[in-house]
This record gives sequence, C-alpha cells and structure tokens, in this order.
Amino acid sequence: MRFKGGYNVLFQGKPDGAVQTMPEPEKLYLPLRSERFHFSSLSVEEGQQVQAGDVLATDPDNFDIPLLAPRAGRVRLEQAENHIVLESIEGLPEHAELDGREILHAEQKAGTAAAKREALVRLGAWQFLYDAHTQALPDPTGTPQAVIVSTVSLEPFLVRGDVLLHRRLLNFTRGLEHLQSLLEYQPIYFAIPDIRSEFADLVRNHIRGYAWVKLLEIPLVYPYDDFAILARGLELSSGNGPVWAVRTEGVLAIDQALTLDRPCLTRTIAIGGTGVVSPSHIEVAPGYPLKAITDKYVFEPNPRIIDGGILTGKVFGDEALGIGTECRGITVLPELKEREFLGFARPGSDRGSFSACFLSSLTHRIRERLTTAMRGELRPCVSCNFCEEVCPAGISPHLIHKYLYRDLIEEAAQARVDLCVECGLCSYVCPSKIDLRAQFTEARELIEQDKREAREAKAREEAVEETSA
Ligand code: SF4
Ligand code: SF4
Repeated sequence: MRFKGGYNVLFQGKPDGAVQTMPEPEKLYLPLRSERFHFSSLSVEEGQQVQAGDVLATDPDNFDIPLLAPRAGRVRLEQAENHIVLESIEGLPEHAELDGREILHAEQKAGTAAAKREALVRLGAWQFLYDAHTQALPDPTGTPQAVIVSTVSLEPFLVRGDVLLHRRLLNFTRGLEHLQSLLEYQPIYFAIPDIRSEFADLVRNHIRGYAWVKLLEIPLVYPYDDFAILARGLELSSGNGPVWAVRTEGVLAIDQALTLDRPCLTRTIAIGGTGVVSPSHIEVAPGYPLKAITDKYVFEPNPRIIDGGILTGKVFGDEALGIGTECRGITVLPELKEREFLGFARPGSDRGSFSACFLSSLTHRIRERLTTAMRGELRPCVSCNFCEEVCPAGISPHLIHKYLYRDLIEEAAQARVDLCVECGLCSYVCPSKIDLRAQFTEARELIEQDKREAREAKAREEAVEETSA
C-alpha cells in the first residue's frame, strides 16, 4: 500500500504507557452530545435510581445508540445543562469488567449475526464502529464490503493501541473472532505498525493464526492510520458499500459484549501535553468530572484543555463538566495570549519547523514545547507548497484555499476538497498560519448541504410528476 504526504509532529508531553485508575467520583456528568452523537431521547426521569449498564438516553438519528449509565446512581436531569448527572455513585462490583481469561476463543453459540449486532448496540459496543469513509456510525443491519481494524494511533496525544493491547491481547483476538462472526466472507484488514519489537511480533504471531485477517503493516507516520486514507489505499471505494472501521478499544468492547454479555463501562484515555504533570493513561468512567482530572494532572495556571489530540481535538467548552463516551484523550497546553514579536522570523535551535529554515536545518529535530501561541501572525499564502507536501489526501490545500478565499466553491469542489480527511497537517506546517483545515471542513459541509438540497428538490419534483401522472 502506498502513502502520500504525512508528517510527524514532535511535541513534548507524550503520554507514557502507564495506566492509572482514577478513584470513583461522587458524581458523574454525562454529556448528551459528543462528536458523532446527540442523545436527545431521554429514557430516565428525575430522581430515578439506575443500575450500571441501564439506558439513560438514546440517539434517534444514530440507530438508537444508547447512552449507558457507567455506574449505579441517582439521576439528576436539571443539575447541569446538556448533561445527565448521576449522583450517589456506587462503584462497580469487583471484576465487573472481567477479562474472561478462561474463555480462550469466542463462543460460537452466542447467537446469529443479527442477534449479535443487536447485542452490540444494546451494550454500547456498536458506538466504537466507524464508517471508514465518512467517520459516521455504520448501520448495524448493513453489510460492509470490508472491515479495517487498527491498533495504530498516530495523532499526539491519543490513547495508544499498544497500551490497551499489552494488557488484553487475548481479549482482543477473541474480539476479532466475534467481529468475523458478524460477517459472511468480507475481509478484515488488520493495521499494525511496521516495526519489529518483541510485542509487535507477539501480536503478529497471534493474528497469523487467523486466515481471514489480512495484515496491513503501516509506517508510523501521521496520519497513515486514518481510516479514510487506509480505505482509499486499499481501493475500497465508497461506491461499493460501507467499510467498517474499529480501533483496539472497539474490538475489546465487542469482546466484552459478546463473550461476557456486559457493556463496556470504563474508558482508557490518554492525558498529555506540556501542561500535564506526568503524561500517561487513565482509566475512568464516561462522565468522569473533568475538574477532578485537571486538579490531579494539570499544573499550568492558565491551561487550554482539549478534548482529543493536538491536531484534530476541540477545546472543551466552559459548559463541559465530564468526559464524553467518545473521548480518547485530553491534551493540555499552556495558554499564551501574547504572540512573539516577529516570531515567525526568529531563528533558534529550540525551534522545530517543517521547513529546513534558520538553525533547524543545522540541528537535529527537537521535541517542541508546544504552547497555544502560534509563532508569527496570519499573513497571505506565500505559495511555499509545504501544505501540499504533507497532505496525505493528495490534494492542493493552497489552491483550494485560494478558491475558497474568493468564494469559488464549485472550483474548490472540482479540486476535490471532499477528499480532505481533516488531519490538520496543512494548518500545522503553514508558515502563514492559515487555518486551512477549518476552511475545508466548512467548505465540505457547504458542498454536502448543496448536494442534499439538490437531492431533496429532485425527490420533490419526482413526487409531483408521479402524482400528476
Ligand atoms: S487537513 Fe485535509 S487538506 Fe490539510 S493536510 Fe490534512 S487531508 Fe490535506
Ligand atoms: S503552507 Fe500556507 S503559505 Fe505555504 S502554500 Fe500552503 S497555504 Fe500557502
């Protein structure tokens, strides 16, 4: 498989492989919105006592995916806007998330593929699946042309697949067996880093026993783990049906659901960045109070706290009180309001740069201490072409930027802005500090909306023609 572009951004504050369990909190704050879901249909009432795993709400626009109670507790609906609060939390019974070590292989009597898919939705494991091309939740009753399983996580600083795998390799391989039992003949592509190490070889050996798994060794360059990039590289065109994609944590959740008939009520997330005391991984229930995490890990007096990784994460809003079900990492940066005077032109051996400029061409690459102050100021595109060099989608970000700058949306569509996978590399390397990624996200939404409206208008016209015929 051939890859284009890509670039590894080196930042200080990388989480190490340790996993710490946070103490059970007094309350959980479960956000009703996440990146893909809006749990707008409530299933509980104010004051109701719920048990761990009970359904609190569902998302009617996403196949009624449930928001599950991660712990037993009492429901409070009015305490925090856009959250369900659980108070008087009871800890999970010991070993509630047993790894089922004694069950070496997936039990075949777990039911039909349809029953298993229903169980995955009910037990909250389905929400770990993606459509590789759109990142949306796939239809649980649909048939994929292929499945991509990835253990690779290249964006700094998100939960690492190897950290999860180290602890649960057996569960993972059993989860793969379950995944295969949902399919008929479709291939499963298994993405693993193209490195040699004792552990990587152990994983390879485990997987080699499965003839239905095709090994996909990928270079450790961001964002070669992106599902859309992998699907395109494998020539799995979206016109031939959906491609399901799932990461390590999803395979583990599938195993938990179909081996033990239990929901996954705890998440392992990374906490990293230059504002964190000891960057590592933590185990928490969804809804875990953000403040309890930042009190323990953040030393910066004025931090910027990001939900997700450095290049694609979003800043937690003021209203965010707990971590969401889709959270994979928290990144903390020192918030510097003042920009450096003529910072972009200042040389220095402490400066990493995509370009071989100033002293960075003479020194080894360094791990940068990232802050929120971008060097230099926004200025017009200088046609340096860096954005095109790193773009993994093979498009011309600077050209699309110029079209969008002049509101030429059709030309931007022809230049294939739709192929952008929103990896954020172009924005990062741009010496003019143009937020290309944000521009492209907006343009893609506009183009999608136009297409949707055109489809709806056509459907209305056809309906009118049918009625009058
Ligand atoms: S954000 Fe889009 S345009 Fe920019 S580098 Fe990534 S894929 Fe290319
Ligand atoms: S990296 Fe920035 S300045 Fe350079 S060509 Fe791309 S948009 Fe223009």
